[in-house]
Amino acid sequence: MIVTDKISDIRNIIKEQKLSGKKIGLVPTMGYLHEGHLSLVRISKKHSDFVAVSIFVNPIQFGPNEDFDRYPRDLERDLKLLEKEGCDLVFAPSVEEMYPSELLTTVNVDKITDKLCGAFRPGHFKGVTTVVAKLFNIFTPDIAVFGQKDAQQVAVIKKMVEDLNFPVEIIKAPIVREVDGLAMSSRNVYLNSEERKAALILSKSLKEAEKLLLNGERNANTIIKKVNEVLNSEPLCKVQYVSCVHPDTLEDLTYIKDKALIAIACFIGTTRLIDNILWEEKYNAKVYDEI
Ligand code: AMP
Repeated sequence: MIVTDKISDIRNIIKEQKLSGKKIGLVPTMGYLHEGHLSLVRISKKHSDFVAVSIFVNPIQFGPNEDFDRYPRDLERDLKLLEKEGCDLVFAPSVEEMYPSELLTTVNVDKITDKLCGAFRPGHFKGVTTVVAKLFNIFTPDIAVFGQKDAQQVAVIKKMVEDLNFPVEIIKAPIVREVDGLAMSSRNVYLNSEERKAALILSKSLKEAEKLLLNGERNANTIIKKVNEVLNSEPLCKVQYVSCVHPDTLEDLTYIKDKALIAIACFIGTTRLIDNILWEEKYNAKVYDEI
Protein backbone atom coordinates (compact mmCIF):
# COMPACT_ATOMS: atom_id res chain seq x y z
CA MET A 1 0.00 0.00 0.00
CA ILE A 2 1.44 3.35 -1.04
CA VAL A 3 0.85 6.27 1.30
CA THR A 4 1.49 9.85 0.28
CA ASP A 5 0.50 13.39 1.13
CA LYS A 6 1.55 14.81 -2.25
CA ILE A 7 -0.74 15.49 -5.22
CA SER A 8 2.21 15.06 -7.63
CA ASP A 9 2.78 11.49 -6.33
CA ILE A 10 -0.88 10.64 -6.87
CA ARG A 11 -0.78 11.92 -10.44
CA ASN A 12 2.35 9.84 -11.26
CA ILE A 13 1.03 6.66 -9.64
CA ILE A 14 -2.39 6.90 -11.28
CA LYS A 15 -0.82 7.61 -14.68
CA GLU A 16 1.28 4.46 -14.36
CA GLN A 17 -1.69 2.35 -13.25
CA LYS A 18 -3.85 3.62 -16.10
CA LEU A 19 -1.08 2.87 -18.61
CA SER A 20 -1.10 -0.73 -17.43
CA GLY A 21 -4.85 -0.84 -18.05
CA LYS A 22 -6.06 -0.63 -14.46
CA LYS A 23 -9.50 0.71 -13.60
CA ILE A 24 -9.17 3.21 -10.76
CA GLY A 25 -11.56 3.30 -7.78
CA LEU A 26 -11.65 6.18 -5.30
CA VAL A 27 -13.14 6.27 -1.80
CA PRO A 28 -13.06 9.79 -0.35
CA THR A 29 -13.16 9.93 3.47
CA MET A 30 -12.35 12.19 6.39
CA GLY A 31 -10.62 9.33 8.21
CA TYR A 32 -11.13 7.88 11.68
CA LEU A 33 -12.31 4.86 9.74
CA HIS A 34 -14.97 2.39 10.78
CA GLU A 35 -16.69 -0.58 9.14
CA GLY A 36 -18.85 1.79 7.06
CA HIS A 37 -15.77 3.25 5.37
CA LEU A 38 -14.20 -0.21 4.99
CA SER A 39 -17.34 -1.51 3.29
CA LEU A 40 -16.86 1.24 0.69
CA VAL A 41 -13.30 0.02 0.09
CA ARG A 42 -14.61 -3.54 -0.41
CA ILE A 43 -17.24 -2.31 -2.88
CA SER A 44 -14.60 -0.28 -4.70
CA LYS A 45 -12.40 -3.38 -4.98
CA LYS A 46 -15.26 -5.23 -6.68
CA HIS A 47 -15.69 -2.50 -9.28
CA SER A 48 -12.07 -1.53 -9.96
CA ASP A 49 -8.52 -2.92 -10.14
CA PHE A 50 -6.72 -0.26 -8.13
CA VAL A 51 -8.32 1.20 -5.01
CA ALA A 52 -7.36 4.60 -3.66
CA VAL A 53 -8.64 6.11 -0.41
CA SER A 54 -8.32 9.78 0.47
CA ILE A 55 -8.22 10.86 4.09
CA PHE A 56 -8.76 14.57 4.48
CA VAL A 57 -10.72 16.51 7.07
CA ASN A 58 -11.82 19.22 4.68
CA PRO A 59 -11.96 22.57 6.53
CA ILE A 60 -14.17 24.31 3.95
CA GLN A 61 -17.11 21.99 4.54
CA PHE A 62 -17.30 22.85 8.26
CA GLY A 63 -19.22 25.87 9.53
CA PRO A 64 -17.56 28.31 11.98
CA ASN A 65 -19.29 26.71 14.98
CA GLU A 66 -18.86 23.12 13.84
CA ASP A 67 -16.40 20.46 14.93
CA PHE A 68 -13.46 20.87 12.50
CA ASP A 69 -10.88 21.28 15.28
CA ARG A 70 -12.08 18.40 17.39
CA TYR A 71 -13.04 16.04 14.54
CA PRO A 72 -11.43 12.66 15.48
CA ARG A 73 -8.20 11.83 13.65
CA ASP A 74 -5.94 8.74 13.85
CA LEU A 75 -3.97 8.25 10.65
CA GLU A 76 -1.84 5.40 11.99
CA ARG A 77 -4.86 3.32 12.89
CA ASP A 78 -6.59 4.19 9.59
CA LEU A 79 -3.54 3.02 7.61
CA LYS A 80 -3.47 -0.32 9.43
CA LEU A 81 -7.15 -0.89 8.67
CA LEU A 82 -6.71 0.03 5.00
CA GLU A 83 -3.63 -2.16 4.62
CA LYS A 84 -5.68 -5.10 5.95
CA GLU A 85 -8.44 -4.39 3.41
CA GLY A 86 -5.96 -4.55 0.56
CA CYS A 87 -6.23 -0.88 -0.34
CA ASP A 88 -3.59 0.12 -2.93
CA LEU A 89 -3.07 3.83 -2.37
CA VAL A 90 -3.79 6.31 0.43
CA PHE A 91 -3.74 10.06 -0.02
CA ALA A 92 -3.61 11.92 3.28
CA PRO A 93 -2.75 15.51 2.38
CA SER A 94 -2.28 18.52 4.62
CA VAL A 95 -4.65 21.48 4.36
CA GLU A 96 -1.79 23.40 2.68
CA GLU A 97 -1.39 20.70 0.03
CA MET A 98 -5.09 20.90 -0.85
CA TYR A 99 -5.48 24.67 -0.45
CA PRO A 100 -2.02 26.20 -1.09
CA SER A 101 -3.39 29.67 -1.82
CA GLU A 102 -6.61 31.56 -1.27
CA LEU A 103 -9.39 29.52 -2.87
CA LEU A 104 -11.18 31.68 -5.44
CA THR A 105 -12.84 28.88 -7.41
CA THR A 106 -15.58 26.72 -5.97
CA VAL A 107 -18.14 24.23 -7.24
CA ASN A 108 -21.72 24.68 -6.14
CA VAL A 109 -24.78 22.60 -6.89
CA ASP A 110 -27.88 24.78 -6.58
CA LYS A 111 -31.34 24.02 -5.17
CA ILE A 112 -30.87 20.48 -3.87
CA THR A 113 -28.23 21.81 -1.46
CA ASP A 114 -30.70 24.25 0.13
CA LYS A 115 -32.74 21.60 1.90
CA LEU A 116 -32.32 18.77 4.44
CA CYS A 117 -28.82 19.14 5.94
CA GLY A 118 -28.04 22.05 3.60
CA ALA A 119 -30.72 24.19 5.24
CA PHE A 120 -28.94 23.88 8.60
CA ARG A 121 -25.33 23.81 7.37
CA PRO A 122 -24.96 26.76 4.98
CA GLY A 123 -21.93 26.36 2.72
CA HIS A 124 -21.40 22.73 3.73
CA PHE A 125 -22.21 21.18 0.37
CA LYS A 126 -20.23 23.82 -1.52
CA GLY A 127 -17.25 22.68 0.55
CA VAL A 128 -18.02 19.04 -0.23
CA THR A 129 -18.51 19.46 -3.99
CA THR A 130 -15.42 21.67 -4.25
CA VAL A 131 -13.16 19.15 -2.50
CA VAL A 132 -14.69 16.18 -4.35
CA ALA A 133 -14.21 17.98 -7.68
CA LYS A 134 -10.56 18.56 -6.72
CA LEU A 135 -10.17 14.89 -5.76
CA PHE A 136 -11.75 13.82 -9.06
CA ASN A 137 -9.27 16.02 -10.92
CA ILE A 138 -6.34 14.70 -8.90
CA PHE A 139 -7.24 10.99 -9.19
CA THR A 140 -9.27 10.91 -12.43
CA PRO A 141 -10.98 7.78 -11.04
CA ASP A 142 -13.18 5.52 -13.16
CA ILE A 143 -15.48 4.92 -10.22
CA ALA A 144 -15.99 6.58 -6.84
CA VAL A 145 -17.90 5.09 -3.92
CA PHE A 146 -20.04 7.13 -1.51
CA GLY A 147 -22.20 5.95 1.38
CA GLN A 148 -26.00 6.09 1.48
CA LYS A 149 -25.46 7.23 5.09
CA ASP A 150 -24.95 10.72 3.61
CA ALA A 151 -27.91 10.46 1.24
CA GLN A 152 -27.99 14.14 0.29
CA GLN A 153 -24.26 14.11 -0.38
CA VAL A 154 -24.67 11.25 -2.89
CA ALA A 155 -27.52 13.05 -4.65
CA VAL A 156 -25.50 16.30 -4.81
CA ILE A 157 -22.35 14.60 -6.10
CA LYS A 158 -24.30 12.65 -8.71
CA LYS A 159 -25.82 15.91 -9.93
CA MET A 160 -22.40 17.60 -10.04
CA VAL A 161 -20.99 14.69 -12.06
CA GLU A 162 -23.94 14.84 -14.46
CA ASP A 163 -23.92 18.63 -14.84
CA LEU A 164 -20.15 19.00 -15.24
CA ASN A 165 -19.52 15.79 -17.21
CA PHE A 166 -17.01 14.28 -14.82
CA PRO A 167 -16.01 10.94 -16.43
CA VAL A 168 -16.61 8.95 -13.26
CA GLU A 169 -19.28 6.47 -12.20
CA ILE A 170 -20.71 7.11 -8.75
CA ILE A 171 -21.52 3.98 -6.76
CA LYS A 172 -23.78 4.18 -3.74
CA ALA A 173 -23.00 1.90 -0.78
CA PRO A 174 -25.52 0.69 1.85
CA ILE A 175 -25.48 2.06 5.40
CA VAL A 176 -23.42 -0.04 7.81
CA ARG A 177 -24.84 -0.17 11.33
CA GLU A 178 -23.75 -1.26 14.78
CA VAL A 179 -25.50 -4.48 15.89
CA ASP A 180 -28.07 -2.46 17.83
CA GLY A 181 -28.99 -0.37 14.78
CA LEU A 182 -27.00 2.84 15.24
CA ALA A 183 -25.59 3.96 11.90
CA MET A 184 -21.80 3.95 12.10
CA SER A 185 -20.24 7.40 12.11
CA SER A 186 -16.87 8.81 13.09
CA ARG A 187 -18.84 11.28 15.21
CA ASN A 188 -20.31 8.49 17.39
CA VAL A 189 -17.16 8.80 19.56
CA TYR A 190 -18.53 12.11 20.84
CA LEU A 191 -21.42 10.28 22.58
CA ASN A 192 -21.16 9.42 26.28
CA SER A 193 -22.74 6.16 27.41
CA GLU A 194 -26.13 7.72 28.18
CA GLU A 195 -26.17 9.51 24.83
CA ARG A 196 -25.06 6.37 23.02
CA LYS A 197 -28.19 4.61 24.32
CA ALA A 198 -30.37 7.60 23.45
CA ALA A 199 -28.93 7.67 19.92
CA LEU A 200 -30.72 4.41 19.16
CA ILE A 201 -33.88 6.45 18.81
CA LEU A 202 -32.80 7.47 15.29
CA SER A 203 -32.81 3.95 13.84
CA LYS A 204 -35.87 3.05 15.95
CA SER A 205 -37.85 5.93 14.46
CA LEU A 206 -36.91 4.85 10.93
CA LYS A 207 -37.90 1.30 11.75
CA GLU A 208 -41.36 2.65 12.62
CA ALA A 209 -41.47 4.46 9.28
CA GLU A 210 -40.59 1.22 7.56
CA LYS A 211 -43.36 -0.60 9.42
CA LEU A 212 -45.90 1.99 8.25
CA LEU A 213 -44.67 1.66 4.67
CA LEU A 214 -44.84 -2.13 4.84
CA ASN A 215 -48.42 -1.80 6.10
CA GLY A 216 -49.29 0.23 3.02
CA GLU A 217 -49.07 3.79 4.36
CA ARG A 218 -48.10 6.14 1.52
CA ASN A 219 -48.97 9.52 3.00
CA ALA A 220 -45.66 11.28 3.64
CA ASN A 221 -47.07 13.48 6.42
CA THR A 222 -48.36 10.49 8.38
CA ILE A 223 -44.90 8.92 8.21
CA ILE A 224 -43.11 12.17 9.11
CA LYS A 225 -45.46 12.65 12.07
CA LYS A 226 -44.79 9.15 13.38
CA VAL A 227 -41.01 9.52 13.05
CA ASN A 228 -41.14 12.86 14.89
CA GLU A 229 -43.25 11.31 17.64
CA VAL A 230 -40.77 8.48 18.20
CA LEU A 231 -37.76 10.84 18.15
CA ASN A 232 -39.43 13.25 20.57
CA SER A 233 -40.11 10.41 23.02
CA GLU A 234 -36.38 10.45 23.82
CA PRO A 235 -35.59 13.36 26.18
CA LEU A 236 -31.95 13.65 25.01
CA CYS A 237 -32.99 13.94 21.36
CA LYS A 238 -33.58 17.32 19.68
CA VAL A 239 -34.96 16.91 16.17
CA GLN A 240 -33.50 19.13 13.48
CA TYR A 241 -35.52 17.74 10.58
CA VAL A 242 -37.55 14.76 9.45
CA SER A 243 -38.13 14.74 5.68
CA CYS A 244 -39.66 12.50 3.10
CA VAL A 245 -38.21 13.32 -0.32
CA HIS A 246 -37.46 11.82 -3.70
CA PRO A 247 -33.95 10.30 -3.37
CA ASP A 248 -32.61 11.86 -6.59
CA THR A 249 -34.31 15.26 -6.84
CA LEU A 250 -34.72 15.65 -3.04
CA GLU A 251 -38.16 17.14 -3.76
CA ASP A 252 -40.60 16.90 -0.86
CA LEU A 253 -43.17 14.17 -1.34
CA THR A 254 -46.75 14.35 -0.17
CA TYR A 255 -47.67 10.93 -1.45
CA ILE A 256 -45.11 8.12 -1.90
CA LYS A 257 -45.29 6.56 -5.35
CA ASP A 258 -42.19 4.68 -6.47
CA LYS A 259 -39.26 5.80 -4.33
CA ALA A 260 -38.78 7.73 -1.12
CA LEU A 261 -35.92 8.80 1.07
CA ILE A 262 -36.85 9.31 4.69
CA ALA A 263 -34.03 11.35 6.16
CA ILE A 264 -33.54 12.65 9.68
CA ALA A 265 -31.07 14.82 11.58
CA CYS A 266 -31.07 15.13 15.36
CA PHE A 267 -28.90 16.40 18.14
CA ILE A 268 -28.20 13.87 20.86
CA GLY A 269 -26.77 16.18 23.48
CA THR A 270 -24.37 18.33 21.48
CA THR A 271 -23.70 15.70 18.81
CA ARG A 272 -25.47 16.03 15.50
CA LEU A 273 -26.39 12.67 13.97
CA ILE A 274 -28.06 11.81 10.67
CA ASP A 275 -29.73 8.66 9.41
CA ASN A 276 -32.11 7.61 6.66
CA ILE A 277 -33.92 4.81 4.91
CA LEU A 278 -34.50 4.44 1.24
CA TRP A 279 -37.83 2.98 0.18
CA GLU A 280 -38.43 1.43 -3.22
CA GLU A 281 -41.97 0.44 -4.02
CA LYS A 282 -40.94 -2.22 -6.51
CA TYR A 283 -39.31 -4.21 -3.69
CA ASN A 284 -42.08 -3.35 -1.22
CA ALA A 285 -39.23 -2.89 1.20
CA LYS A 286 -36.55 -0.41 1.99
CA VAL A 287 -33.38 -1.05 0.11
CA TYR A 288 -29.72 -0.37 0.77
CA ASP A 289 -29.58 -1.32 4.40
CA GLU A 290 -30.99 -3.45 7.15
CA ILE A 291 -31.82 -1.93 10.50
P1 AMP B 1 -16.81 10.60 6.13
O1 AMP B 1 -15.45 10.12 6.53
O2 AMP B 1 -17.78 10.68 7.27
O3 AMP B 1 -16.76 11.83 5.27
O4 AMP B 1 -17.41 9.47 5.20
C1 AMP B 1 -16.71 9.02 4.06
C2 AMP B 1 -17.63 8.15 3.25
O5 AMP B 1 -18.06 7.05 4.05
C3 AMP B 1 -18.92 8.87 2.81
O6 AMP B 1 -19.23 8.48 1.47
C4 AMP B 1 -19.94 8.37 3.78
O7 AMP B 1 -21.26 8.38 3.28
C5 AMP B 1 -19.47 6.95 4.02
N1 AMP B 1 -19.98 6.43 5.29
C6 AMP B 1 -19.89 7.00 6.51
N2 AMP B 1 -20.53 6.26 7.43
C7 AMP B 1 -21.05 5.19 6.77
C8 AMP B 1 -21.84 4.07 7.16
N3 AMP B 1 -22.23 3.89 8.41
N4 AMP B 1 -22.18 3.17 6.22
C9 AMP B 1 -21.81 3.36 4.92
N5 AMP B 1 -21.06 4.39 4.49
C10 AMP B 1 -20.69 5.30 5.39
